[in-house]
Amino acid sequence: METNTSQISKNFFGTSEQSLKEIFAEWKVETYRIHQVFTWVYHYNCRDFNEMTNLSKALRALLAENFYFSLPKIISRTHSQDGSIKYLLEMDDGAEVECVWMPSDTRKTLCISTQVGCRLNCSFCLTASLGLKRNLTTAEIIGQHLAINAELQESEQISNVVFMGMGEPLDNYDSVVEALRLMISPQAMKISTRKVTVSTSGLVDRMKNFQNENLSINLAISLNASDNATRDRLMPINKKYPIEVLIDCLKKYPLKPQRRHTIEYVLLAGINDSDDDAQRLAKWLRGVPCKINLIPFNSFDSSEYKPPSKERVLKFQNYLIEQHYSAFVRYNRATDILGACGQLAAQSAMSAPS
Ligand code: SF4
Repeated sequence: METNTSQISKNFFGTSEQSLKEIFAEWKVETYRIHQVFTWVYHYNCRDFNEMTNLSKALRALLAENFYFSLPKIISRTHSQDGSIKYLLEMDDGAEVECVWMPSDTRKTLCISTQVGCRLNCSFCLTASLGLKRNLTTAEIIGQHLAINAELQESEQISNVVFMGMGEPLDNYDSVVEALRLMISPQAMKISTRKVTVSTSGLVDRMKNFQNENLSINLAISLNASDNATRDRLMPINKKYPIEVLIDCLKKYPLKPQRRHTIEYVLLAGINDSDDDAQRLAKWLRGVPCKINLIPFNSFDSSEYKPPSKERVLKFQNYLIEQHYSAFVRYNRATDILGACGQLAAQSAMSAPS
């Protein structure tokens, strides 16, 4: 076995199978050993190479010299009346992001972040007020799942993951794709592709790349308007990728049998919730394999927008159902603890001394 230890020590979490293959080849260690190490780390939660007793002492020493284990630190937990828990996590450099764990009878879903802040500047989103501080690394993305699962009881373990926290996942493309590969790898985190959803504001070029990654991950598209003028105002990315371009991409996007895209539509009173909006939305989505999630806006102090009335929400939904769409009303979880889209970390950052 070669003992070239010239590499800089790096976080084992987030290290891809591919880069381990290259490292092990350089060390002249058999590739099947990667599976053994992954089993220790991801299936037995082992965080000490010396405890990996089916590896040689020399390989254990080499791994310990070249890798360390670091997970985000949980710095606060806020419990919602609906059973959700909002976590604020601190990264090694002090950056903070949020995650929300949401239990239901059938699943335990974790909403994770991909960036510290976001640069897409959607006008209804509190995270946007932070701007983009930096991208999260692959280790920091999967680390949110690993750190939170480590403190949950057996019956509370995370079953589903949604990339809908702070940041635009496809704006941090490489780290997100590597994180997804580790999440769905049978050797690593072993999460079914059906149980992972990536939300995007519609970065069409990145969506085209993403479809070629062969990940079979569900996409949720944050649409939120039925005409370009309104979407330009709500989501400035629309000026680059207007609705017709986005819809065209969705129509051509290859999907596995039985899979559909999710269309997310945040309903804002008097902005995008009229009967005309519902009709235009139904027209746009004709021919797109999708279900529609209608999300009544969760207002926050500095927001110019208000939530729609229940009657308006139901009328909007009923029209879509009449047009043969699967349309659901999804109330934001954990609204009493600022659970929607980046609100806790944004609030924490805004109240921190500058
Ligand atoms: S809604 Fe999503 S994409 Fe838009 S600013 Fe907020 S985090 Fe970014």
